[in-house]
Amino acid sequence: MGSKTVETRPMVEVRTLRKQYGDFVALNDVSLSIAKGEFVTLLGPSGSGKSTLLNLISGMATPTAGEIYINGEDATQLPTNRRGLGMVFQNYALMPHLTVFENIAFPLQVRRVPKAEIKDRVAQALKLIQLEHVAHRKPKELSGGQQQRISLARCFVYNPPLILMDEPLGALDKKLREDMQLEIKRLHAELGVTMLYVTHDQDEALTMSDRIVLMRGGAIEQHGTPDALYFRPETAFAAGFIGNSNLFAGAVETMGDSCVLRTGPHVLQLMPDPSMATPRAKVSLLVRPENVRLVTLEADSTGCAGVTVVVEDSILLGGVVRHYLRTPEGQVVIAQELNHPGKPKLARGTSMRAQWSLEDARLIPTA
Ligand code: ADP
Repeated sequence: MGSKTVETRPMVEVRTLRKQYGDFVALNDVSLSIAKGEFVTLLGPSGSGKSTLLNLISGMATPTAGEIYINGEDATQLPTNRRGLGMVFQNYALMPHLTVFENIAFPLQVRRVPKAEIKDRVAQALKLIQLEHVAHRKPKELSGGQQQRISLARCFVYNPPLILMDEPLGALDKKLREDMQLEIKRLHAELGVTMLYVTHDQDEALTMSDRIVLMRGGAIEQHGTPDALYFRPETAFAAGFIGNSNLFAGAVETMGDSCVLRTGPHVLQLMPDPSMATPRAKVSLLVRPENVRLVTLEADSTGCAGVTVVVEDSILLGGVVRHYLRTPEGQVVIAQELNHPGKPKLARGTSMRAQWSLEDARLIPTA
């Protein structure tokens, strides 16, 4: 008693949240906590339940079971306008007959903010998105990217502590989308607001998030920092959805002190790891393409594991080259390396060894 209380309440907490449409389970008892100021992205393939979860948190859909707490308050039954959140969608939903200034001012007018203050706050919002010069234009006189920035400004101008975004950049072309990703990230850092963001684009999720929640079939497959999801995926699905991956399916065997993976005719050396050394455990070995090196068949392979491959194709992606290779058993292996001027080309049909350092391979249990 009397001791200083530390604010540790999460901004959002959902507990065993469920949404069914008839017998179909769109969201299967999901629990998730989002800290204040965190940028969390719901990532997953189409139909995995991302929008369902977002819509339940926003109040645009009603859960079949479970609870939603926003800023410590039970919001499960609250209407959307009493949940204290802002929303941004793919279709900008700007009002066409109002100017940019009036569009951004609108949520403040609804909240009965005094006129002089509205003027200041809209001016600040326009400055933040660097669009002061278009204040008096109508939305149709702006590009798609500008319109989306206006819809962002209209959302954060009233300082909601929580902003929900559902594929807000889906309608923009690649370059603009990448610029906007950085812009949203900057706004998040400057405003300290909590963000919950939905996308099916893994690069977008990796670029923007403090934490990625990977969804599959209405449930959370894995959540963690972008680094954790990329470098320490816990399932083959996570490994395959985020980044490119080479997966070798097989069984672990111990040979004296060392541990190997038997995959088809190959015996791949593994890092000594007692936790994975359960003999005959069915696992997949994950090796990211950037960790695969192509060497001659005679090259030294101390401390490495690898397979013999034939070069099928090499494609240039600007700063990197991606090689598509095939083992004699027909498995495709991808290797990726940095490009530089004058880099010798690999002839199609060349036999090589695709190898990796033992510490760059990760064992994943097979479901
Ligand atoms: P995502 O956002 O990951 O693409 P959704 O959350 O929109 O996925 O949808 C999850 C699943 O729920 C999908 O299979 C979708 O078809 C289903 N679903 C969503 N809304 C409805 C609805 N109103 N009626 C029936 N099924 C729905």
